Amino acid sequence: MVTGRIHSFQSLGTADGPGVRAVVFMQGCPLRCACCHNPDTWDFNRGTEVTPDEIFRKIKRLKSYFGEEGGVTVSGGEPLMQPEFIKELFTLCKTDGITTAIDTSGCVLNDKIKEVLNLTDTVLLDYKYVTDELYKTKVGTEKSKVDEFLSYLNSRNIDTWLRQVIIKDLNNNENSVKVLKELKQKYPCIKKTELLPFKKLCIEKYEKLGIPFPLAETPETSKKEIEELEKYL
Ligand code: SF4
Repeated sequence: MVTGRIHSFQSLGTADGPGVRAVVFMQGCPLRCACCHNPDTWDFNRGTEVTPDEIFRKIKRLKSYFGEEGGVTVSGGEPLMQPEFIKELFTLCKTDGITTAIDTSGCVLNDKIKEVLNLTDTVLLDYKYVTDELYKTKVGTEKSKVDEFLSYLNSRNIDTWLRQVIIKDLNNNENSVKVLKELKQKYPCIKKTELLPFKKLCIEKYEKLGIPFPLAETPETSKKEIEELEKYL
């Protein structure tokens, strides 16, 4: 039987996709983003082992809150590192008329992941930076992989929300945001682009894990700055 490792389950959230959603945070991530606010999801060996059916039953209990738009979002960690589990979970959700979303870094794409994407209504793609250099130094992967992922989503016409955390001295500039606008023009699958403020609520998690937080000295991004940058979208 397929099992998965989850970090946690959030009953009802409104920040991760359309409408009101149950959010499943999967355990494990191959990347090491400087801005990561969930370092406790990195280790593939931690978390709780669950079956798709167990999680589906938890989601189903919340169905009456989802309304027309809501449903389930699988986040992480990097959820697509556990494609078999998500495939089964999404199959159960789809059979029950519950819409599905995935919050991913888009750094990995293979046949098993394509099967998951077949069952996914909305992809929240964390397009972290617009240069390969920043991807290499602040994420630990190549930007081309994320572009390849986005191009695949477009070829399959899967609704995509592009998301970017705005961080001082890294991507809080007009030119960077304008590239996101160009992406939207190039890929019609992009239905929405969200600029999110960099926050440091995660500092305690890093301290607890004994891991240095690379952006400890970087100030949080204000709502005003986000609004200024949104003008270039
Ligand atoms: S992909 Fe997400 S979970 Fe993984 S290191 Fe980056 S921000 Fe953290």
